[in-house]
Amino acid sequence: MKLIDKYGRKVTYLRLSVTDRCDFRCVYCMDEKMSFLPRAQLLTLEELEWVGRAFVELGVTKIRITGGEPLVRKNVLSLFQGLGQLEGLKELVLTTNGSQLVKMAQPLKDAGVKRLNISLDTLKQARFKKMTRIGKLDKVLHGIDAALKAGFQRVKINAVILKNRNHDEVSDLVQFAVDCGIDITFIEEMPLGTISDHDRAEAFYSSAEIRQDLDASFSLLPSAETTEGPARYYRVIGTDTRIGFISPHSHNFCESCNRVRLTTEGNLLLCLGQEHSMDLRRVIRANPGNITPLKQSIINSMAIKPKGHDFELDRQPQILRYMNTTGG
Ligand code: SAM
Ligand code: SF4
Repeated sequence: MKLIDKYGRKVTYLRLSVTDRCDFRCVYCMDEKMSFLPRAQLLTLEELEWVGRAFVELGVTKIRITGGEPLVRKNVLSLFQGLGQLEGLKELVLTTNGSQLVKMAQPLKDAGVKRLNISLDTLKQARFKKMTRIGKLDKVLHGIDAALKAGFQRVKINAVILKNRNHDEVSDLVQFAVDCGIDITFIEEMPLGTISDHDRAEAFYSSAEIRQDLDASFSLLPSAETTEGPARYYRVIGTDTRIGFISPHSHNFCESCNRVRLTTEGNLLLCLGQEHSMDLRRVIRANPGNITPLKQSIINSMAIKPKGHDFELDRQPQILRYMNTTGG
């Protein structure tokens, strides 16, 4: 293992953002009018695979493909196929909004993707439209069906909960997960990028409030299980479903951080909530076909991995980049 930071944390997990573009405009993730990166600034699919290879050779065992919406990138399946063959990579996983899964679920499974996280914040058509601005709920529900049929090891729903937008649906979302036999994670909104839709502090709905709401309908048992991520898990007694809570405001999980993120431009972000980064695109393009300088840069980046984030909702904007460019 070569990737150990100055606080002794081992980095074994890479989140790879393959596009900043998306077919939705979720109100907490993007502003209504977004500009996207010119294509020439993006890493090519071959370069993304090259970075994945370098990380795996350095001991990374898990890669999550994310974005933006990863499945809207042209020919992205070839990236999954390439990464799926890397020796040493134990888990190739994906976070998606689900809109393309009807046609993509089976090919992704065949390429070696083990687990899927699918974002779903509401089960109501009109509300879905409001929260995603341009998304269609039916497409996502059919996508979830397709994922279940394809037989992934695990499918999980990710739901961002906002007060007075969808907080009244937490039990319905859990019931949906129970009915499908899948897991669900509730995520507190994080202050990444400036948005005009709502005041993030006003819309804040904490994991503790969600837990309390769920107590009325479900019996939850704290679970020691972990996916080596920031979520804390509970089992829904009498079902196969686990509920996770990602609570960056109330629970600082940085001490066990094992991950880094690569933006679609090839910028290595050492922390979701800080700006410390390293430009890997420059290194890749200066050394075509030679993976050694790239691996050395990645090793060097460990020295600047910050101790942790310090999100505060009323101090805005803290981080100028949006979640879609961050590889959330
Ligand atoms: N487009 C894909 C999706 O929506 O699943 C992958 C990228 S999206 C940025 C990854 C996750 O980040 C989604 O579950 C989304 O709900 C979440 N997310 C986006 N913006 C967020 C924010 N400001 N705070 C917390 N979670 C956010
Ligand atoms: Fe797109 Fe995902 Fe951001 Fe929603 S959360 S706008 S689906 S990238």
